[in-house]
Amino acid sequence: MVTLPAPVSTFTSPFKMDYTYVAGGGRSLFLRGLARRELLARRCPGCAQVYLPPPEFCSRCLTELSAPFPLPGTGTVRTFCVVNFPFPGQKFDPPYAVAQIQVHGADTRLMHLVREIDSAALEIGMEVESVWAEEAELTHSLDSIRYFRPTAGGSDA
Ligand SMILES: [Zn+2]
Repeated sequence: MVTLPAPVSTFTSPFKMDYTYVAGGGRSLFLRGLARRELLARRCPGCAQVYLPPPEFCSRCLTELSAPFPLPGTGTVRTFCVVNFPFPGQKFDPPYAVAQIQVHGADTRLMHLVREIDSAALEIGMEVESVWAEEAELTHSLDSIRYFRPTAGGSDA
């Protein structure tokens, strides 16, 4: 009988990849808005679906979306997960919550952190508001929103 060595369960492998992300017209509007603390949505003139972030065309109708308009920085937690384990590259020590947030006025959802609440107390339906980065930290990415936090208003669940 052959005795095999213990299996390799994990190893560290250096990996680096440079690439250029092309956001396209619709997403570029959204990303530029983030750098001004604006959440810019677009509506489909065909089916009235409000996209945030907006693509250029409605995925259901293939119709070009309307001009962008701002939505408030408030929304509802539609689902979430609590990250309880550490892994390389984390910005925060676990536990922390990542949620799908439906910003008020949008039919789609953003994924972002929810902080300033004990993860065990987070609930689907909870109302949250955006906490924006400082002026010098604003950028063309969702990093312009540091995280969402519960509002004083409660829940719609
Ligand atoms: Zn549509």
